[in-house]
Amino acid sequence: MSARIRVIVCAAAVALGAWPSIATAQAPDRKPKLVVLLMVDQMRGDYVDRFQSQWTGGLHRLVAEGAWFRDVNYPYFNTVTCAGHATVGTGSLPSTHGMIMNDWWDRSRRAEVACTEDSTVTPISYGRSVSGPGDSAAHLRISTLSDELRAQSSPGGHVIGFSLKARAAITLAGHRPDAVAWFDDSGAFVTSTAFSQAPLPAVGDFIHRHPVEGDFGKVWDRSLPREKYLYEDTAVGVMPPKGMTPAFPHALNGGGSAMPDRLFYDEWQSSPYADEYLAQMALDVAQTLRLGQGTATDMMAIGFSTLDKVGHDYGPNSHEIQDVLVRLDRTLSNLFAGLDRLVGSGNYTVALTADHGVPPTPERSIAQGLSAGRVSTTDMGRAVDTALQRSLGQGKYVAKMLNNELYLEAGVFDRMRRNSMAVAAVKSALLAMPGVVNVFMRDEIASGQFADDSVARRIARGYDAERSGDIVVVLAPYWIEGNNATSHGSPYGFDTHVPLFLMGKGIVPGEYLMPASPADVAPTLAFMAGVTLPRSQGRVLVEALTHATAVARTTN
Ligand SMILES: [Zn+2]
Repeated sequence: MSARIRVIVCAAAVALGAWPSIATAQAPDRKPKLVVLLMVDQMRGDYVDRFQSQWTGGLHRLVAEGAWFRDVNYPYFNTVTCAGHATVGTGSLPSTHGMIMNDWWDRSRRAEVACTEDSTVTPISYGRSVSGPGDSAAHLRISTLSDELRAQSSPGGHVIGFSLKARAAITLAGHRPDAVAWFDDSGAFVTSTAFSQAPLPAVGDFIHRHPVEGDFGKVWDRSLPREKYLYEDTAVGVMPPKGMTPAFPHALNGGGSAMPDRLFYDEWQSSPYADEYLAQMALDVAQTLRLGQGTATDMMAIGFSTLDKVGHDYGPNSHEIQDVLVRLDRTLSNLFAGLDRLVGSGNYTVALTADHGVPPTPERSIAQGLSAGRVSTTDMGRAVDTALQRSLGQGKYVAKMLNNELYLEAGVFDRMRRNSMAVAAVKSALLAMPGVVNVFMRDEIASGQFADDSVARRIARGYDAERSGDIVVVLAPYWIEGNNATSHGSPYGFDTHVPLFLMGKGIVPGEYLMPASPADVAPTLAFMAGVTLPRSQGRVLVEALTHATAVARTTN
C-alpha cells in the first residue's frame, strides 16, 4: 500500500471516529496476495449436499473452512460454459459481456463461430503442431477481473489461467495474461499469438517434465469402496464416448492401441487425471512466475473441465461423476497445500464456483415418472422452414439452429413479421413438437413486453442483438436437445443452481443463505484487491468479508 493511500485510510478513519483502530490495524495487509479462481464445469449446487460425505480433502476444506453460499443461481437462460465462465470472469451478464453461448451464428460471414475463435491469430502449440484459427478474448466485449488486476495495480498483478477448454481459460484469464493455455483435441496444450509470440518457458518446462502421455495405460476405477457411491451402477441412460465402457473401470489405452492416439487424448480429457494435471501445471507455473510474492494481488484461474465431459456421457447420477469429484477433492487438497507453501496460509483467497449444472438423463427422469425427452434441433429447423414455405412461398428460410436459438436467413425475419399468419404458423409448428413449451421472437425480447415472464427476463439478460438468434425456443424441464446422455443450457434450477465457496484471506467461514449469483464473485474479489470493475452487475458479498464484519461490529 502506498503512503498516500495509507494517509487517506487514516484520515477517513479519524473522520468516522468509531473505527480508527481497525482501519489502521488492518489497512496494510487487507489485500490478498493471490486470488485463486476455480471453476468446476457442470458442478450442480446440490452435489455439495449430496456427495460431501465422500470428501476429505480440498472440497471438504472449502465446506469446513470456507464461506459456503448455498443459494446461488445464474439469472439468465443459456446456461453454458462460455457464458458462465465469462460471467464469473467479468462480474457481468452475457447481454453485457457478449459471450452468449459457446458458439453463435455470424450473420455477416454466414458461419458458426466459437466464442473465443479469432481468425486473426494462430495457435502456438506446446507439443505437436496445431492448425486452424487461434483463440483470443476478442469477442469478450468488456474487461475481466484479471484485466483490471493487471491494469489498476502498480506494478500490475500477474495472471495465469489454464483449462482443457479455450472458452474457460481465456474468459477467466482475460485479454493479456502472463500465461494462458488450453488443450487441443489433437493432443497438445496450446495458446495463441493473441497472448505471446512463442511458447512460454514456464509452461513448456512443466509440460516437458510432465507429458500428458505419462497417463497412457492408466486405469480409472472407483477410488472409494463401491458402497460409498450413491445411485445405481451402471447409470441409467449412459452413453459412453468411443473407447470407454458404460461402467467402471475405464482404461486409458486409446481403445487398445500400443501408443497414445487421438482416442487416448479424448479418454484423458474425460478422466480425473486431466483435472489433476491442470492443478499441478497451475501450481508449477505459479512457482516459476513467483505469483503472490509482489505488492499487487495476482490471480491464478483454473477451469476444471472433466466433470462436464463425464457428466454429458454418464449423467449426474453416475458413479463416474462422483469419482471425478472425489479425485478433485484430492487434487484441490494438494493445490491448497502447495499454495500454503508458496504464498502462505491465510495470504490468498480462493473462490470456487461452476458455470452451470445439468439435468438427469431423460431415460432416468422417465423411469422416475417425469416428462422428459430429447428434441432434435434439425427437426425444429425443418418445422420452421415448412411453416414459412406455406406462408411465404418456396425457399430456404432457416440459416442455423444452435442450442435453443434459431437464426433466419437475411431479411426473412422482417418478411415474417409483416405477415402475422407466418408468425403464428412458426409458433404453432414449434409448439406442436413434444417438449417445446414457449417460443419468443427477437422483437418480443427486445421490447420487454414479456417482462412478467421469468423465462423471458432470463432470455433478455443473455440476449445480444448481433449474436443471438431470431427465435428462441423454450423446452420443458428435463427435455434436452442434442445427442448426449444429457445436456444443459436451460433456465431451470438443475442448470442454474451452482456452488459458490470463498475461503482464505478476508473470508468469514460459515453457511450463507442469502441468494447470490456467480456474477458476484468478480466484484467481491475486486473489492478485496482494491480494484474497480467498470461494468459489474453483481454485488460484493460483504456478509462473508472479515473487514466488513469488523466494521459492523464496531459501529453497532
Ligand atoms: Zn457442457
